[in-house]
Amino acid sequence: MLGGMDSAHPASRPRDLALARGRTVVGDYELTFCSDGTYLLDGGAMFGVVPKTLWQKRTPADAENRILLGLNTTIVRTGAATVLIETGIGNKQSEKMQQIHQNRALLPASLAAAGIRPEEITHVINTHLHFDHCGWNTTLHPDGAVTPTFPNARYFAHRGEVEHGHLQLDRDRVSYLSPNYDPLIESGQMTLLDDESIRRDPAIVQGISVERFPGHTAHMLAVHIRSAGPQGSERRACYIGDLIPTAHHVDPTWVMGYDLDPVTCIAERKRFLAEAIPRQWLVLFTHDHHTPAARLSLNDKGRPNAAALPLEPW
Ligand SMILES: [Zn+2]
Repeated sequence: MLGGMDSAHPASRPRDLALARGRTVVGDYELTFCSDGTYLLDGGAMFGVVPKTLWQKRTPADAENRILLGLNTTIVRTGAATVLIETGIGNKQSEKMQQIHQNRALLPASLAAAGIRPEEITHVINTHLHFDHCGWNTTLHPDGAVTPTFPNARYFAHRGEVEHGHLQLDRDRVSYLSPNYDPLIESGQMTLLDDESIRRDPAIVQGISVERFPGHTAHMLAVHIRSAGPQGSERRACYIGDLIPTAHHVDPTWVMGYDLDPVTCIAERKRFLAEAIPRQWLVLFTHDHHTPAARLSLNDKGRPNAAALPLEPW
């Protein structure tokens, strides 16, 4: 069941956590967690060389060895801008792929449940251009036309991702679907970043910037969110994309079979954790349906541990 109102909440505040996952604040900014729904992937592929006897304690597999994953979109309202990070799988999957992934194409309904209109989004950021991160950049219509889902937004992705996708390599061509980005590049609606442009100015808007964390792909971007806290302090969140896809992946060595360069992934995770843990960043996960946001700490064995952020419902 998708809908339903909690009688404890007034009707004007739909409390549909299946669609709109929740919200929180980071300094002066409001963060809303929406979702394109869940999908299923092979548990072995999600945990690489980690034995199933270990990972299945954290996330159980079904009879076909698949685990449930989320497709989380974060919307940041800074006051000056409404920034949407990541757009799920979308509605362009073939029937066969949809059958495999069991994805549900819920992002438009999720945004509506959260009271967010596509027209009010000013910026869209894709951490990378795999099919499960940029699917709703565009919408496929019954007549075959593909149009931008967020007509007034400027879209941002790393140029290296586009170039890699266009190579259509044996290893990962199924992950790169050009209708998710080529129409936006051709129309001029997507800005392609590169290492030099990011070095000069990593900001997408004031308070929101990108940083490359290679490993999963060579040009994957994390999105940093910085807002003023009390007494001159700073509040931080980071959408870490597929460098750490779920809260079950916070151990640096628990990398994915999908990662193009697992050794780099481990090093980059350590680099990220060395900042995120002591500075108490709120870490935002793409693929953790149950935990879109968490704070990390080290347990008594020195291993990272994720504590889910309790989300405010509507
Ligand atoms: Zn992904």
